[in-house]
Amino acid sequence: MEPLTLRRGGEMRVLIKDGMVITARRTGRADVLVDGERIARVGKIRPSAADEVVEARGLLVLPGFIDAHVHFSLPVAGTRSADDFRTGPIAAAHGGVTSFVDFTVGHPEVSLPKALEGRLEEARPSCIDYSFRAEMVGWTPERVDEIFRVAEMGVRSFKFYTAYSDSGRRTPLGYLRVAMGAIREIGGVAMVHCEADELVDPRGGPFPSARPAVAEEVAIAEVGILARETGCRTYIAHISSAQGLAAYLDAKRKGALLMGETCPHYLLLDDRVYMRPDGYLFSVTPPLRKPVDFEALWRALGRKLLTAVSTDHCPFTRKQKEAGAEDPTRLPSGLPGVELLPALLFSEGVVKGRISPRQFAYYLTEGPAKAFGLWPRKGRLSRGADADLVLWDPDARWTVKTRHLHMDVDFSPYEGMELRGRAVAVMSRGKWIVREGEFIGAEGHGKFVPWQG
Ligand SMILES: [Zn+2]
Repeated sequence: MEPLTLRRGGEMRVLIKDGMVITARRTGRADVLVDGERIARVGKIRPSAADEVVEARGLLVLPGFIDAHVHFSLPVAGTRSADDFRTGPIAAAHGGVTSFVDFTVGHPEVSLPKALEGRLEEARPSCIDYSFRAEMVGWTPERVDEIFRVAEMGVRSFKFYTAYSDSGRRTPLGYLRVAMGAIREIGGVAMVHCEADELVDPRGGPFPSARPAVAEEVAIAEVGILARETGCRTYIAHISSAQGLAAYLDAKRKGALLMGETCPHYLLLDDRVYMRPDGYLFSVTPPLRKPVDFEALWRALGRKLLTAVSTDHCPFTRKQKEAGAEDPTRLPSGLPGVELLPALLFSEGVVKGRISPRQFAYYLTEGPAKAFGLWPRKGRLSRGADADLVLWDPDARWTVKTRHLHMDVDFSPYEGMELRGRAVAVMSRGKWIVREGEFIGAEGHGKFVPWQG
């Protein structure tokens, strides 16, 4: 690894020299000049143009990564996901993630604008930028008006569940169709958790026997039809199975404006982990599938058929999960991931030749930025974009050890895994937040990014 040498102090203009710039569109050696919070220029730039010069020879320079699906401080089943808006963003920054999209906490009695106001307040400590999507729980005719109102507040993505009728979170297809019509009008996007409620047995917990791949396939097919019929841009969350993937591709072929996401755990883990004595720690919804499923998802990524790889970061400590070790209906679902997302995708994807470096950049930057209204401020490495940057050492070799990570959880599904590639320096809107692997950012530096365009 080449050391990052700081030649001169200064705040204003930072030149990142001689790195290999990688975006979804191009790969090539270039210098990047940052002026204040924005990227001023990319090309061959004289060091005299800058106050600070950072030597990046041997490093990749990428737009800051985006995790489009996280749940910080999520209240579930009488507890809360382990990371809050302070620890989660710091962990994200260590991995090279400079923007995230979280959710409002939907409630039948609370309007979407009110839920958004509360969450915007909660997110203030974040050290990196963020956006929200409005979670729809409990349908009333007023929800249509609320969709237009949150759009004015800068939020045009919405989350729906086709499952979880047991906890009241399901939106029946008839209401989903009405909502999709309104979301199309505001130029927004409907993100849907696709599992057919009738094919899920909540008494069986978050395991494949109770939440089979066919439930995902049926729900994606139905939602795909509604997306086609309403013309609403629709983002299928966390595709976990080959069957779900096939339904997604089929709906796209028939003209639905579908986008698709998968997560590291569906690309790296399979249902054999549930046989371990601590298998309950891997509880996640949808559940982990078979190796044949993750192979299908990797092939789709390699053919650029998906839009984003995000984490669905929703960690619970061992103690929180132990509550459900005996009773699967009390087992909180969700895995930590936000800090490891880029390294897992680089190591298992790029290094193993399953995806190209440009595809790696696409799934972590341009894909999610365009899907969720962050483009052209985020996900882009050219003049005028926010200076969110990652200096990535492609040759770093390291082993996942929970005690060395920064997520507020005492368990990693990837414990002991050997990884290649690591963020060595990370910049958020012109400020270094990670240098030499150390966090040097500030609480509250992160800002809400309203929907662009
Ligand atoms: Zn989620």
